[in-house]
Amino acid sequence: RARTLFLITPTVNRYGQLAHITRLANTLRQVENLHWIVIEDGNATNPNVEAQLNRSKTKYTYLFAETNRTTLLKGRGVEQRNLAIDYIRSLKPKDGLVYFADDDNSFDLELFDVLRRTKYCGVIPVGLLAQLPFEDIDVVDDKVVGFFTIFGFDRKYQIDMAGFVVHVSAFYKDPVPKFYRTVMGGRLESDFLAQVVNDPSELEPIARDYDRVLAWHTKSENREAWTVDRIKSLYPDKWK
Ligand code: UDP
Ligand code: MN
Repeated sequence: RARTLFLITPTVNRYGQLAHITRLANTLRQVENLHWIVIEDGNATNPNVEAQLNRSKTKYTYLFAETNRTTLLKGRGVEQRNLAIDYIRSLKPKDGLVYFADDDNSFDLELFDVLRRTKYCGVIPVGLLAQLPFEDIDVVDDKVVGFFTIFGFDRKYQIDMAGFVVHVSAFYKDPVPKFYRTVMGGRLESDFLAQVVNDPSELEPIARDYDRVLAWHTKSENREAWTVDRIKSLYPDKWK
């Protein structure tokens, strides 16, 4: 039996949300032994999202946590991922791997088998970051010695959220690894990985035998979604 994969997906009511959740559900329904933890950013879950989770036939848990928007600190999906970490801890799994699958990313089906190769903390290249076709990991003699990217060179771990997977045992550490916002933003992953491993050399490059990208950082379009009521009031003759 394949090892349990816990997938953590923060999601928020924005343009494209249902399309993203539908696409992800269609991918994940083809993956065995998965526990999909979806956390709505808000003060309630969204019935339309839940309906798609149901149709996915995937084992899922749908929670909600509202982002604290009063702070000037930056970082998306922080409260949501941290709640999911607490939830996984409450299940007390002995084995299993945790992967952070943002709602608008795209995944190759083979990714999920590759993630299961991980002993403690696996890393993979991620497609479509900044202007890059993909970010990669610099490996010498099977050891991670650096990262190929074009931004945030001061980060100790220059890896996107979709670029690493962690064994559940990491979450039994004291203190528990969590996500923390920073003033400048863009450091969530590096700060998190610094709580999981001591040095890049401890990272396991698990997808070296692949010459293609398995996880893509496709992005949600930043647009305002109008309500149907608003459309009806703007176009009363066309919309009834
Ligand atoms: N997200 C969230 N609340 C927000 C904005 C984003 O929960 O206010 C979620 C979003 O659904 C996604 C993750 O956090 O799963 C990362 O956000 P986004 O995709 O906007 O980040 P980017 O693609 O720019 O890294
Ligand atoms: Mn995204």
